[in-house]
Amino acid sequence: MASKVIDLRSDTVTLPTEAMRRAMYEAELGDDNVGEDPTANKLQEMAAERMGKEAALLVTSGTQGNLVGILSHTQHGDEVIVGDEAHCYLYEQAGGAFIGGLQMRPVPNHRGHLDPKEVEAVIRDPDNIHFPRTSLLCLENTHNRGSGAVLSVQETKDLADVAHRRGLAVHLDGARIFNAAVALGVPPKQLTADVDSVTFCLSKGLSCPVGSLICGSVEYIARARRMRKLLGSGMRQAGIIAACGVVALNEMVDRLAEDHANAKVLANGLANIPAIVTDPGIVDTNIVFFDVPDVPPAEFLKGCLEHGLRFQNTAGRRYRMVTHYGIERADIDAALSIVSRVLAPVQAPRA
Ligand SMILES: *Cc1c(COP(=O)(O)O)cnc(C)c1O
Repeated sequence: MASKVIDLRSDTVTLPTEAMRRAMYEAELGDDNVGEDPTANKLQEMAAERMGKEAALLVTSGTQGNLVGILSHTQHGDEVIVGDEAHCYLYEQAGGAFIGGLQMRPVPNHRGHLDPKEVEAVIRDPDNIHFPRTSLLCLENTHNRGSGAVLSVQETKDLADVAHRRGLAVHLDGARIFNAAVALGVPPKQLTADVDSVTFCLSKGLSCPVGSLICGSVEYIARARRMRKLLGSGMRQAGIIAACGVVALNEMVDRLAEDHANAKVLANGLANIPAIVTDPGIVDTNIVFFDVPDVPPAEFLKGCLEHGLRFQNTAGRRYRMVTHYGIERADIDAALSIVSRVLAPVQAPRA
């Protein structure tokens, strides 16, 4: 096996930077459960400012951010509208149902995008006693299963307007909101202006070891703080984690453009390999999906790993590669030549 493995499984494999390790060592600390950790407080203020919200709360993961975020908007027995390929619907242990007694109501995902008409069509009539109360719409930007698709400012507003007009709140799963902002060249607060709450991850492209933030109004974040406590994540010297987040927000956002450029090169290169089926045109940010219809996944993955390349088989004969901090352009070129070599014996699938 090659000595250095190029790991494109996820942007969660990123390791903290030197500056983050130093910041952790030097962080000013206090008991965050009583609001006295100065570094956690500083990160929360920075996060709220970046997202254009009044307040923010540090939580342990994106999953917890979404769960706390959803619980803080809803009552037991409510219905929550969500895209049928949303992370919070597919990959979060049905936390809304398990913990919150919520019914998730999926609407079709169109390559990362929702249709406002399809959202509006499933909002319940509040006066009909047969129905649960629809209280929340969840959006996702960038959209993970939508190949990192970006929701524009206008698209977010159009969806949020439908929800708000009918009395629903809107929660945005912005695990990769900074990727969306960088791709569009707009400050993230423009992408969150029309939603009531947003969560974003520090531990993906921003390279922190742990942590996500949830942002919203002062009153909403006070509820979220209780929910975080309920879920067992009231932390003590949380500044150890938060210190990395401060570095991430100051130093790691603009460089996401490099990941996007690398993903484009990767997607175009994969599209040129005859055995691969993919559409490089839909790659907005750092996530690339592709199919290899004529090779069994175990064989393909093993062949690539033997040459030093790792990535994920997400379903059937579909694969995902994610670019991130630590992956350079030379790694992309190397990854493409490994895939080409492994697939060299395979013809193009018949159209
Ligand atoms: C990764 C991810 C999450 C969950 O984050 P964890 O920190 O892994 O719990 C939520 N939403 C999206 C879109 C993600 O990609």
